Amino acid sequence: TLRAGVVAVQGDVAEHAAAIERAAAAHDRTIDVEEIRTAGAVPDCDVLALPGGESTTISRLLHDEGIAAEVEAHVAAGKPLFATCAGLIVAATDAGDDRVDELGLIDVTVERNAFGRQADSFEAPLDVQGLADDAPFPAVFIRAPAIDDASSAAVDVLATWDGRPVAVRDGPVVGTAFHPELTRDSRIHGLAFFENDDAVLPSATAE
Ligand code: GLN
Repeated sequence: TLRAGVVAVQGDVAEHAAAIERAAAAHDRTIDVEEIRTAGAVPDCDVLALPGGESTTISRLLHDEGIAAEVEAHVAAGKPLFATCAGLIVAATDAGDDRVDELGLIDVTVERNAFGRQADSFEAPLDVQGLADDAPFPAVFIRAPAIDDASSAAVDVLATWDGRPVAVRDGPVVGTAFHPELTRDSRIHGLAFFENDDAVLPSATAE
């Protein structure tokens, strides 16, 4: 049985936990999902989710609780991390905001609240590279960041909206500006955790 951690210092935690369970079931894997609020739990996790919420708050709490360094070690070991919205902002190299102490796990520059000027939230059908089928993904954007610079050789752009990257992969880390956990569609969780050839996951036979 795999162990998933959802970083739960702030943000939409329960929705990620449910999406991870759906994605695991779709990949014939058994998984236990744990909510992480303090240091010490991340090292036992095979996969991690960093949810949306408020990036300055998440950043501060991650560092105060000592979880930030553990997330960095998780990725350094090649284990999968999926960061959504505020999670993407915190995981980026440059969040363009002094109140965010970035983890530097996704080599992109982001702009907070980039789509917020047009509309606070909206849903858009996205073509996302690497999904198991071609059906557009119902992407929910909520005061979402945009990615300004994804030119790093380490980064693959998986989807764009309005001409800007909104889903990326950097080795074992996948980041989206939108919220896949808020839909019934768990394909991007599946991609991030179970279909990433650049990430390390215990094999099903070892379970
Ligand atoms: N606007 C938020 C921020 O910049 C992110 C929004 C979200 O996670 N839905 O932190």
